[in-house]
Amino acid sequence: MADIVSVRTLLREPDSYLGRSVVVNGFVRTRRDSKGGFSFMEINDGSTVKNIQAVIPAALPNYNEQVLKAGTGASVSVSGVVVASQGKGQSVEISAESLIIHGFADPDFPLQKKHHTLEFLRQITHLRPRTNVMGCVARVRSRLALGVHNFFQSRGFHYVHTPIITASDCEGAGQMFRVTTLKPGEVDFSQDFFGKMAHLTVSGQLEGECYATALGQIYTFGPTFRAENSHTSRHLSEFWMIEPEASFMDLAGNMKLAEDFIKHLVVCALDECSDEVNYFDEKIAPGLKARLSSIAISAFKSITYTEAVDILKKSGESFAYPVEWGSDLQSEHERYLTEKTFNGPVIVTDYPRNIKAFYMRQNDDGKTVRAMDVLVPGVGEIIGGSQREERADVLEARIREMGFRPEDYAWYLDLRKYGTVPHAGFGLGFERFIQYVTGLENIRDVIPFPRTPGNA
Ligand code: ATP
Ligand code: MN
Repeated sequence: MADIVSVRTLLREPDSYLGRSVVVNGFVRTRRDSKGGFSFMEINDGSTVKNIQAVIPAALPNYNEQVLKAGTGASVSVSGVVVASQGKGQSVEISAESLIIHGFADPDFPLQKKHHTLEFLRQITHLRPRTNVMGCVARVRSRLALGVHNFFQSRGFHYVHTPIITASDCEGAGQMFRVTTLKPGEVDFSQDFFGKMAHLTVSGQLEGECYATALGQIYTFGPTFRAENSHTSRHLSEFWMIEPEASFMDLAGNMKLAEDFIKHLVVCALDECSDEVNYFDEKIAPGLKARLSSIAISAFKSITYTEAVDILKKSGESFAYPVEWGSDLQSEHERYLTEKTFNGPVIVTDYPRNIKAFYMRQNDDGKTVRAMDVLVPGVGEIIGGSQREERADVLEARIREMGFRPEDYAWYLDLRKYGTVPHAGFGLGFERFIQYVTGLENIRDVIPFPRTPGNA
């Protein structure tokens, strides 16, 4: 019985397979029938963007009845010998000895060999993984997910599974999805499933802090939900976030961790997804590979929010939103800083306290907090993080000042009451990062089944 081999493995070491009998399982991309008594079938098995060509002799017993009916989209198993290819563009091909067709594809299969726009593919999310572009995205996501775990585990961070359903009031309820079993019209939340109002999580940070103050260094990696009505190319209603949190770490340590993390993932993409990066470089974002390679070796710049505002004001650029100290940086401002001013990743720190969350550590100037956002070209904000306020009295005063009730934060304050530690962390949006390494402009194209307002 011949070995079943993936196209990826086969094409990595074609010479070692020459003359051997193999079986390849996959899907027909194209079939061309020559008059000379052969059909040529391009087969893709999803292991790589590259196809393998099978040369199928008309002498096969099922040639007329089956092979000639196996068009684009059909699923097949081809057995045969690996031989040097006569044709251009491939080093080896399979000289078929048998071809099993598991399923024919109806002729209306929408992915016939012609160019499809990404917009069109979004309408057929169930079939788009069979395209080159979405196959590449899926493989990059898979490899980088492992890269995330490798990075943190090798540094002694523990993976913590924080809840998806949360009844914590600490999070911004305005942009949360409610989880309820109440019938329409019922408003008594004490009768609801959890005995109070519950939501889908917007962040695992607060729960992560509980574990960071016990295990030292932790990270979460899970789905995150935001009910914000943003119709941008960078926002999803359901996305995946990685949130490390470390005790005994300050803002400088947090910035270093973020930089190392991004570089690790970029190197992982370049080294382990080279076919995919080459594909994106060629078809989607020319220059991508050079850009990624340079990021892997150059140090990230960092500036304070106040310096960023200065740069933007002096830029002479006419922004849609005016730049004023005290208001949040808009996407256009972030893009200007990272694309025009620095032409590379930049970390902006020390934002005004009034535009940031209550838990960020206050600076002595009374105006700013130890926040950091990492901005990258093409995407803008990719990471948001901070050193957390570890002083119980300062935190409680801030909670009151913002009009919240300390009772609602009792458990969070306990972390400061019993053995408080300086600590810090951040959140990286996995899809924003995938946009960054693939060059894809729309976040809907870097997640298998995008959820956005009006679309699930
Ligand atoms: P933005 O200002 O871009 O809306 P944010 O400041 O609300 O983002 P954070 O709460 O800081 O985001 O979340 C941390 C990270 O999660 C962000 O830096 C980003 O990479 C990612 N992220 C946030 N919201 C979304 C979203 N709706 N879709 C995809 N990724 C997101
Ligand atoms: Mn943010």
